[in-house]
Amino acid sequence: MHVSRHENETCPEVIYLDNNATTRIAPEVFEVMVPFLTEYYGNPSSAYHFGKFVEGHLKEAREKVAALLGCTPKEIIFTSCGTESDNMAIWSALQTSGKRHVVTTQVEHSAIMNQTDYLERMGFGVTRLPVQPDGTLSLSDVENAIRDDTGVVSIMWANNETGVLFPVEEIASICKRKGVLFHTDAVQTPGKIDLRHVAKSDIDFLSMAGHKFHASKGVGVLYVKKRTKVVPYVIGGGQERGKRGGTENVASIIGLGRAAELALERLSDEQTRVRTMRDFFEETLLRRLPHLYINGKREQRLPNTSNIAFDFVEAEAILMRLDRKGICASSGSACTTGSLDPSHVLSAMGLTPARARSCVRFSFSHYNRDADINYALEIIPPMIEELRAMSPLGPGHTDNFNYDVEAAREKEEKLMAQTMAAINE
Ligand code: PLP
Repeated sequence: MHVSRHENETCPEVIYLDNNATTRIAPEVFEVMVPFLTEYYGNPSSAYHFGKFVEGHLKEAREKVAALLGCTPKEIIFTSCGTESDNMAIWSALQTSGKRHVVTTQVEHSAIMNQTDYLERMGFGVTRLPVQPDGTLSLSDVENAIRDDTGVVSIMWANNETGVLFPVEEIASICKRKGVLFHTDAVQTPGKIDLRHVAKSDIDFLSMAGHKFHASKGVGVLYVKKRTKVVPYVIGGGQERGKRGGTENVASIIGLGRAAELALERLSDEQTRVRTMRDFFEETLLRRLPHLYINGKREQRLPNTSNIAFDFVEAEAILMRLDRKGICASSGSACTTGSLDPSHVLSAMGLTPARARSCVRFSFSHYNRDADINYALEIIPPMIEELRAMSPLGPGHTDNFNYDVEAAREKEEKLMAQTMAAINE
């Protein structure tokens, strides 16, 4: 179906290789949502049968989501998104512990990063742990960062830019031993790795978001381990057993339940076919192009994510050209008002600003087919060669990429100004 915003304007067909940004709603998910948007619009809190009927379906969805984590339905709280789940976990842990220090990492999503920045401005202490050049985290760093006044440790399970996985279950055990609450932002994991052992682990809080695994936008989950204290972040009615006020986003929650079932059914497809597709994509590019680097520890990554440095080329230039060919991918940089900040994740891994600005993230899903990958593989190598030939940073112009960072930054600022001027022309 094509949707027009204006007369004569339709959304183009795309090859969607940006599944860490969001995913398409599975047809099976959409199908179960529709009746709750049209016919069964009762409020699940209403006492009459029309409301109770909806409440029964919510209960079933909660059971299906619980099965994804191997937990009980009472440990599931529905929220509006991954960000709300993240914010609620940190806020709640600080409130219930009465402590004022948070341990997190330098590579978290902005949902955690900006919240901890805010907490810092409010007088809380925050320790942001560094990562290794391959994006991994040292367990002893986590242990050493925990202080007497630490209220919560929040460390993501899988990085959204590189796909690098952190050993969160081991970290949770360290936290338990030290008597500190542990939260993990697991927004990128459902359907990609097996989460059914979560309830058996020492993880206290875990966040998920429906739109990352083929449910709709506007629905999230916060898992809270049995006996872990929690206070509401959205304060209102008694919904979610008094833990999250606001009338439930019924249709999206029903869809989320179905998406959780599909995530479990398709786990092996993700871990075999999608992984093979991703590996083939990377290996083919590595064979066809020099000066290419895969970011993140290759054997400790999500099966669907590929973050590639195309040295000597600006990621924004690649993305614009890919867009013209109908391919959606992304970079971690924020292109705003004339400045291109390199990704905080890649910078924390020690990439020079130049290399960080050359990185593109491709993320695949169950719905990608070999034809999508083959099309991208036809387009990318000649495109990179052409961009390199045009680039003043190209291999012909720079003999060593590990040059002085400050000198490189100056050169890049000039190049950026030219690029932005060209974009704005
Ligand atoms: N955490 C991670 C790791 C993410 O990738 C995202 C979304 O990109 C979020 C949190 C935020 O999720 P939402 O967009 O549902 O608020």
